[in-house]
Amino acid sequence: MTKHIFVTGGVVSSLGKGLTSASIGMLLERRGLRIRMQKMDPYINVDPGTMSPYQHGEVYVLDDGSETDLDLGHYERFTNSPLTRDSNYTTGKIYQSVIHKERRGEYLGQTVQVIPHITNEIKRAITKLAEPDVDVVITEIGGTVGDIESLPFLEAIRQLSLDLGRENCLYIHLTLVPYLRAADELKTKPTQHSVGQLRQIGIQPDLLICRTEKPLSRDLRAKVGLFCNVPPECVIEEQDKTFSIYEVPLSLVEHGLDELIVRKLNLKCGALDLESWHELLHRIRNPKNEISIAVVGKYVELRDSYKSIYEALDHAGIALQTVVRIERLHSERVDREGADRLLAGVDGLLVPGGFGERGIEGKIHAIRYAREKGIPFFGICLGMQCAVIEFARNVAGFEHAHSTEFAKDTPHPVICLLDEQRMITDKGGTMRLGAYPAVLLEGSRAAAAYEREISERHRHRYEFNLAYRDALERSGMKVTGTSQDGKLVEIVELPDHPWFLAVQFHPEFKSQPTRPHPLFQAFVAAAVQRRLARTASPQG
Ligand code: GLN
Repeated sequence: MTKHIFVTGGVVSSLGKGLTSASIGMLLERRGLRIRMQKMDPYINVDPGTMSPYQHGEVYVLDDGSETDLDLGHYERFTNSPLTRDSNYTTGKIYQSVIHKERRGEYLGQTVQVIPHITNEIKRAITKLAEPDVDVVITEIGGTVGDIESLPFLEAIRQLSLDLGRENCLYIHLTLVPYLRAADELKTKPTQHSVGQLRQIGIQPDLLICRTEKPLSRDLRAKVGLFCNVPPECVIEEQDKTFSIYEVPLSLVEHGLDELIVRKLNLKCGALDLESWHELLHRIRNPKNEISIAVVGKYVELRDSYKSIYEALDHAGIALQTVVRIERLHSERVDREGADRLLAGVDGLLVPGGFGERGIEGKIHAIRYAREKGIPFFGICLGMQCAVIEFARNVAGFEHAHSTEFAKDTPHPVICLLDEQRMITDKGGTMRLGAYPAVLLEGSRAAAAYEREISERHRHRYEFNLAYRDALERSGMKVTGTSQDGKLVEIVELPDHPWFLAVQFHPEFKSQPTRPHPLFQAFVAAAVQRRLARTASPQG
């Protein structure tokens, strides 16, 4: 029978529940268990696809085209558990489904209520993942215990222990034990209160994971245990990791977390195999080079908006034993202050995806600078579209070339909408979304980097306009990847540049720390080359 782990969070948000859940998943997988991971988000949007990065950070796209919470990025980086649209539910998605059923008359005249109809729908979403070949389903409940929004989710997971048997469910609560400098003390009261709230609604957590700046003493763990009604060994410390997030699972193992879970859920499994993870940390701790990559975007002030891109750069750096210092540059600043002032010292430029006109010219200036100075350049989605616009304007001679997303009446719409997108008026879930295969041009950089079949995830409406393909190719920009029918351009390159490659898809979603994405790796390798060449000849 499939077992369930529920991860809740208390005291404050941003405790790293996603990272902790992903670490738990990774540890169980490395004990040979087959797991599934899932996140419940209490907000009312049906998915985060229409939310601003200021509200939500990055929208993480899955193979099946669902637009999900960025915590699913942690799940995919830490585990190999397959994720689908069943891996992320919001209050909106649950209600949408209940309301559809009500309209179809499926409730047979009943009054439709939060309990049992909404909670049943939540339980269905959770148990759906418990297929016969799955040992453990890990469900992370977003939000903080005590929020009004998360109550139906908490009620549903409480009920599940009655439906499935208490012995088949494990409740893990992540809390904060703050350090008060003035008193030089760690404080347990917020944890007591948050567990108190959980117990009030009928959930007794089995394990407490305490985020803390300082180690928890035995006495302190005993105190937390006593007030929260758990044995002291079930109070686990998760100290802040400033060095690398990939240390988190190892520190949880040190405090016995995997063993406790296995014992409490009575799981039959093997010993923990962490060899490749130790190797990963060894590489992280022993870098040989350091480079700097400028990321020029509109949301650089927010750490989470380009989360997967920063992670993917890091993965490539780890593989090449190189520290990748990321210079987050606002595109409007590049526009104001000039690319040469801001980009002169960098070893590579990355322009990520985005929407809307603000900051576009700054991205285009930055790309021009990288193209002219031979700085390795990697464009992603909107980054590719900007590279095409820049090349069309400044090399191929198409004055005022633009994307019709930003200039409806441009004389040269090098990026434009395809007919199937023209008619669409709904915003949610209507872009070209999810994984599609692509065909690569033999002899290109893209073909050299990928040693595997290529299937990459998309999230965009606008496309390279094929009417300009010949003209741009004659001027030196090569199309090196297309959709299988050849109608959609997926990759462009400048073969005469040290490394200039841009893609319409989002490779960052398929990078793992132990398996970096080939294009990110090739880009970082080109940046390392440039750095080494420059240190050898400072004029260069
Ligand atoms: N705004 C562009 C489009 O819709 C690019 C999207 C993106 O970068 N994700 O095509």
